[in-house]
Amino acid sequence: MAPKATDPSIDSRPGRRIAHLDMDAFFASVELLERPELKGLPLVVGGPRRRPGSEPGHGMRLGDYRGRGVATTCTYEARAFGVRSGMGLMKAAALAPEALLLPANFEAYRRSSAAFKAAAVAIAPVMEDRGIDEIFLDLTEVPGESRELGMRLKVAVREATGLTCSVGITPNKLLSKIASELQKPDGLTILSQDEVPTRIWPLAISVINGVGPKAAEKLRSLGLETVGQVAAANPAELIGHFGQSYGRWLFEAAHGRHDSPLVTSRDPKSISRETTFERDLHPKADREQLSKILLDLCTRLAGDLARQHVLAKGVGIKLRYEDFRTVTRDVTLVRPSRDPEALREAARACLKRVDLDRKLRLLGVKAGTLVEEGGFLGEFQPGLFED
Ligand SMILES: [Mg+2]
Repeated sequence: MAPKATDPSIDSRPGRRIAHLDMDAFFASVELLERPELKGLPLVVGGPRRRPGSEPGHGMRLGDYRGRGVATTCTYEARAFGVRSGMGLMKAAALAPEALLLPANFEAYRRSSAAFKAAAVAIAPVMEDRGIDEIFLDLTEVPGESRELGMRLKVAVREATGLTCSVGITPNKLLSKIASELQKPDGLTILSQDEVPTRIWPLAISVINGVGPKAAEKLRSLGLETVGQVAAANPAELIGHFGQSYGRWLFEAAHGRHDSPLVTSRDPKSISRETTFERDLHPKADREQLSKILLDLCTRLAGDLARQHVLAKGVGIKLRYEDFRTVTRDVTLVRPSRDPEALREAARACLKRVDLDRKLRLLGVKAGTLVEEGGFLGEFQPGLFED
C-alpha cells in the first residue's frame, strides 16, 4: 500500500489533516464582483433583499436609511468604523453614515457558494458543509504537503469564484476553525498539535467554537480568559462549574484535543421561518399578537414541509430580544409531524424555557431532524414531545 502523505508536524492522530475554508467577507465580496468600482469603500449589505433576477440597485447612503433592518455583512472598510454583521442598520448608520447600503442578493451568493464548494471538492472530496461560505475538508487521504495543498485550494477557489478564502489546516476541526481566522483575509495557516501552546493558548477562550458569550463570561468570572488559562486549570474545577460533559470538553478543547468526524451529509436539514416585528413586542402585553404571529409562522412552515414532502422530528424557536441578544431552544417530537398545531405546541414548550420578561424584536420557528414522509401522517396528540 502506498505510504500515506503524512505531514509529521501536524499529526494528533497520525496522518489526520483537516482543513477549514472560510470565504472572506463573503456577501460583500460577491457584491463587489458585480460592482468593482465600489472596491475599497465602506459597504454594508442588509435591509430588504434584492428580488431574484432584478437589476443591481445603486444602493443608498447608509446615513439616509430608516428602518429595522440588520447588517448582513460589510466590507473591512466598513468594519474600520465599527460596523459588524448582525448590527442594527440604524446603529451602523450612526457609525458610518457615508457608507453605501446594498440590498442582499442571495441568488448571487448561492451561485458563488456552489462554485466555491465545487472547486474545493474537486481537490478533496470529503467535505462537511458548514453553511453558505464555510466548509471543512478531510485532507488525510489527499496526497501532497499541507501548505502546497492549502495554496492549491485557495487558487482553485479564486479561479472558480473570483473571491478569496482563508484556510486553516490542522489535525482537527476545532483547531482548523480557529486557524482559518488567524490570518484573515486571504490567509493560509498551518498549525500542528505541538504549536497549540505557543499559537493558541494566548488567544481569548471565545475563539473556541462551542464557547458562547455565557460560558466565556462564567470563565472570566473564574479568572480564566485565555485558552491557555483554561488548559492550565484543574479539570475537576471545570467539571465542578460546568458539569461533567461540558467541563471535560472545555479542558480537552483548550488542549486542542478534538476528534469529531466530518459530517459529510447533513440530512436531514432544517427549515425555518422567522419574522422581525414592526415594533418590539412584549411577551405578556402583546400576547395576543404574538400568538397570532406564532401560528402564522407554524402554518407557513407546515406548508414548506408539505412542499418538500418531509415531516419534522425536532422543533425549535429563535428569539431576538430588543438588545439584539438571541436565544434558541429545541424540543424533539415523539412522532414526526408537520401539523401546524403540533409545530405550535412544540414551539410553545420551547417558549416556556426562555426569559419572557423582555421585549422581543424577532421570532422564528425551525423544523429540524426532517424525515421523508410516508406512514407518519398521524394526527397530532398533545403531550407527545419531550424536552
Ligand atoms: Mg466567512
